[in-house]
Amino acid sequence: MSGNIENLAAPAATAAGKNNIVKVDNLKMHFPLRRGLLQRTIGYVKAVDDVSFHIRSGETFGVVGESGCGKTTLGRCLLRMYEPSSGTINFNGIDITNESYKNLRPIRKDMAIIFQDPYSSLDPRMSSGSCVGEPLIIHKMTKGRAEYKERVHELFNICGLNPDMTDRYPHEFSGGQRQRLSIARALAGDPLLIVCDEPISALDVSMQAQILNLLQDLQAKNSKMSYLFISHDLLAVQFISHRIAVMYLGRIVETAPSREIFSKTLHPYTQALLSAQPMPDPVAEETRQRIILEGDIPTPINPPPGCSFHTRCPKATSACSESIPPLRDVGGEHYVACHLV
Ligand code: SF4
Repeated sequence: MSGNIENLAAPAATAAGKNNIVKVDNLKMHFPLRRGLLQRTIGYVKAVDDVSFHIRSGETFGVVGESGCGKTTLGRCLLRMYEPSSGTINFNGIDITNESYKNLRPIRKDMAIIFQDPYSSLDPRMSSGSCVGEPLIIHKMTKGRAEYKERVHELFNICGLNPDMTDRYPHEFSGGQRQRLSIARALAGDPLLIVCDEPISALDVSMQAQILNLLQDLQAKNSKMSYLFISHDLLAVQFISHRIAVMYLGRIVETAPSREIFSKTLHPYTQALLSAQPMPDPVAEETRQRIILEGDIPTPINPPPGCSFHTRCPKATSACSESIPPLRDVGGEHYVACHLV
């Protein structure tokens, strides 16, 4: 959404409830690599590797990082779409890490996801009204046809869609409208948490700001609703998030309140990411100094020893390859995983 940030409304509000809706401790998601007739495990893809964080009620927690850093896997683990390898996930006071699918069913009403691609996340054989209203039926949230219809119309209205279009099919909507349909569907269960997985990256620039504003307005109207907002776009994440976590090769390397991650950037990887963002202010853009990272992201099958960023870090020392830097508290809810900080 570079170049479009100036069109956006006020920055994200800072107030958020004190109660944690999500608490994740030491989460690992290692996918086994199998080979041969006997499908023997020959290694693991360490998509998420020892990640801990919390999300407060009414808060937006942004997760940012390059493609393949594990942010999408993290979001899916949270919703128990994947079985984590180890660690714990606490949702709304309940440890759901090993909860059976049967026991998870009532809890799932309070969770929802908005996918990156609105084109494929809606069933093309269902009318848009049915796509939006399906969770109402699954969770038995309305009594009778009239109440169901009224709620679907309400969800269309809330998301800026014309309720007269409930009989139309998803392909009859534009990309931005389809993402609005996905949001309306996610809202149907009146969730406490919505995982927004790259919700604007498939949209054209003019639509991105509208969707971000819609998500922010919806949260302003429902102060108990939290978002896990996943994106590779730092400016979008900063706009909507109260706090941000930066991920690299399956680990959180820096987390801080949204404004602080920009004003007091401490981790060399965050500094490099930030330097790559075009600035909306022409003067700032003129003086922007890019930090070019050498090489590609290493494979999560065999991450480098010690600090996994040391193969690309412009500040790396010999000590960096010897031990993994822990996330260290530097005050003000700011944590950094770097031996030099
Ligand atoms: Fe760079 Fe070393 Fe810090 Fe890792 S620990 S970010 S390699 S300076």
